[in-house]
Amino acid sequence: MTEITEGKAKILIPDPVEFSREGKFDPAWSPVFYNPRMVFNRDVSVLAVSVISPSSVLDAMAATGIRGIRFVLEGGVNGEVIFNDKNPVAIELISKNIELNRITNYKIMRADANSIMHQLKVDYTDLDPFGSPAPFLFAALSSLRRKGVLGVTATDLSALEGKSITACNRKYGASGKRLNYSKEAGLRVLLAKIAREAAVQEKGILPLISFYKDYYYRLFVKTVDGAKRADKALEQIGMLYECQNCGFSFMDKECQVKCPMCGGEVNAYGPAWIGKLNSIDFLNRMKERLDKAPQINNPNSVKRLLDSLISENGMGPYYRIDVLASKLKVNMPPTHRLIDCLEDGTRTHFDERGIKTSKSFDQLIECMKNL
Ligand code: SAM
Repeated sequence: MTEITEGKAKILIPDPVEFSREGKFDPAWSPVFYNPRMVFNRDVSVLAVSVISPSSVLDAMAATGIRGIRFVLEGGVNGEVIFNDKNPVAIELISKNIELNRITNYKIMRADANSIMHQLKVDYTDLDPFGSPAPFLFAALSSLRRKGVLGVTATDLSALEGKSITACNRKYGASGKRLNYSKEAGLRVLLAKIAREAAVQEKGILPLISFYKDYYYRLFVKTVDGAKRADKALEQIGMLYECQNCGFSFMDKECQVKCPMCGGEVNAYGPAWIGKLNSIDFLNRMKERLDKAPQINNPNSVKRLLDSLISENGMGPYYRIDVLASKLKVNMPPTHRLIDCLEDGTRTHFDERGIKTSKSFDQLIECMKNL
């Protein structure tokens, strides 16, 4: 075992040297999973939980217990935290880590996440599986009390983005063609799946924060009880489109076969969430908390993400500047010049080659041609 520090927590993890492949630590080989590449995910999650301020928490797939422990030490959670994992070695480690960090209000359970989530009711459930969260979403939503919040990680991007369209259909019920704004499309497909699973339970969802990073999606949705709220959320599900000819990209409730700009054939992908991906109020509250969170590992990166999500929120899908440039047979303009030209445009956290704008597609093309 090795002791590491993450945020305010001290955590025992299986010795990284012992579980290395070709000199590189490989979390998949470890008897209990701890991935240093997920520190950013946990930092953002701790901030989000501090804003949610839940009275009870279920860390449904706890592994070393790092998330639940940080929620208490840094997220200000005073109520009970339930740590669950089906792996008996993880359970032993969670006990040690809880002791090491002097956590007092907790329960440790060794159960299948789906069965425990069907039995419990908490204010906040954290779902952090290997790969796809799809098999756990229904139970996770049912584990929430009124106005409860669900935090979800998904690392099966090849399915969600439509690289593996059969897997996407199996897990998320979405199909179609992979789009050039696939990173955003994947997140929207995941949200649509959550909205549908919630609707079965007569709950609506409101996305608080949802983003893409490196090789995963992370999102938090608040649930609101009632059939009408569920119906309202379902109204936010539609299809994603991209014109094969001119590249115009849009989202619509209605089925479209022709591009409204040029009449060309469109590629379609979905069903997908076509509503807002974030709550501006929630993001601003996270920013306020960030200023008071010196233990966060990468405060500047977290701030950059929050600022980016604030400026992107409510805009249509992003455009890949390189894709448009090649369609128009022009040189790829620098992003900042394109933003200046549009007077209302922003970079997107989804893709460094991407741009979002509230201006018309014609104006975007005009700027692309004139720069
Ligand atoms: N949340 C942890 C963190 O932030 O470091 C990492 C969780 S790891 C990606 C997934 C964990 O889920 C593993 O510890 C695994 O044993 C556990 N797990 C996988 N399937 C499960 C299931 N059906 N029920 C309960 N635990 C499960």
